[in-house]
Amino acid sequence: MKLPTQRAGLLCGTPPKPVPPFRHSAKLRRKTIPPRSKNGASWRRRVTSVPEILAKRNLTRADIITLLAVRDIEDMELIRKAAEQTLLKYCSDTVHWRGLIEFSNECRMNCHYCGIRCGNKSVKRYTLSEEEIVEAAKWCATQGYGSVVLQSGERNDEESISFVERTVRRIKVETVSKALPLGLGITLCVGEQSPETYRRFFEAGAHRYLLRIETTNRKLFESIHPPSQRLDTRLACLRSLKESGFQVGTGVMIGLPSQTIEMLAADILFFREYDIDMIGMGPYIPHPDTPLGKNLKPTGTETKNRLQLGLLMIAMTRLFLKNVNIAATTALQALDPTGREQGLLYGANILMPQLTPSEHRKDYLLYPNKPCLGEDRSDCAECLAARIRSVGRKLGLNEWGDSRHSRKPDNKQSNC
Ligand code: SAH
Repeated sequence: MKLPTQRAGLLCGTPPKPVPPFRHSAKLRRKTIPPRSKNGASWRRRVTSVPEILAKRNLTRADIITLLAVRDIEDMELIRKAAEQTLLKYCSDTVHWRGLIEFSNECRMNCHYCGIRCGNKSVKRYTLSEEEIVEAAKWCATQGYGSVVLQSGERNDEESISFVERTVRRIKVETVSKALPLGLGITLCVGEQSPETYRRFFEAGAHRYLLRIETTNRKLFESIHPPSQRLDTRLACLRSLKESGFQVGTGVMIGLPSQTIEMLAADILFFREYDIDMIGMGPYIPHPDTPLGKNLKPTGTETKNRLQLGLLMIAMTRLFLKNVNIAATTALQALDPTGREQGLLYGANILMPQLTPSEHRKDYLLYPNKPCLGEDRSDCAECLAARIRSVGRKLGLNEWGDSRHSRKPDNKQSNC
């Protein structure tokens, strides 16, 4: 296998620039530094080989950086195995489903990387009706998926807020059954909202919320968003979501222009600092109709490198945070047909089958090459079940599949 380069930004076709020397040399990554003298008296040995790092109980920032920079095929496999063992020890061998309904691509935001940004006038905008969303959720419940994710572009007007609120209430009531006495678990992914709106969504019955931070590096965040979209707002939203009672998910894009491995390591530390329960992250895929993506044309090698870095990020997040839920995202599969299976093998435990009606999938293109565009929802479910079986995992049916991390004594809404 080829390696992720040390500067992730080089993975996706950034114009060549002089690269500053990286702090960790190839020698340091692969081999133990030879003993060296201190004050001419004692000899110390630095622990830096991959097996030695993996044997540590607690990983440091430097360890994460070293392992994210791994390029050797055998070392990658060691990391993968360690992440898989951690998953089996702290979670289980069950993969949980989240039926994904991308219910609207209307968006007030203008993120420089995203295909459904409001500035992209070539997108045909749509919003599913309440009836369509509830019907898709009911189908999901009868399949035994246990949970649904309602995702959309961002709106914060009262009409859209009460629409989400009403739809969540209906899904909770209309999906109650013997198998699911509390109805489907509902995850929302509808962006930056006010604390009051988050409270309303939680009271309506949603209990998980995904809001990606995209990157915790301030400069990088500013370079991929317009000035009105601020890192501090996202951070405040994540805190407010926790305060409202949600299990909170976040994540980052991997392989953004000028992103470094140090920045990605800082992202993983951030997940712990913010007590994050669920992680959804994936490789950045340049979209030709966006300011960030229009001049980026990744080569095959760059694509492969970004996939590898995406897998290593999953593994390192698993090793560092242990009991959180981590999704094997569709962006992995957009880079490689087996990307999601590989994600599971590197420590992910969540899959999100597509429930968006097929006629609208092509209008929810956050990035090009999105898989499953032509398939209908039963095809998606069957294909994902086969993927789960192919990597020797079990399918979690009729359960919400909350992350173990979120199981706290005061968590009243957990049924897992
Ligand atoms: N507006 C909602 C959800 C829609 S976008 C929200 O902000 O929560 C969901 C995620 O898709 C984004 O957070 C981003 O991380 C990811 N995404 C967008 N464009 C992408 C691209 N070009 N490549 C990879 N991931 C992308």
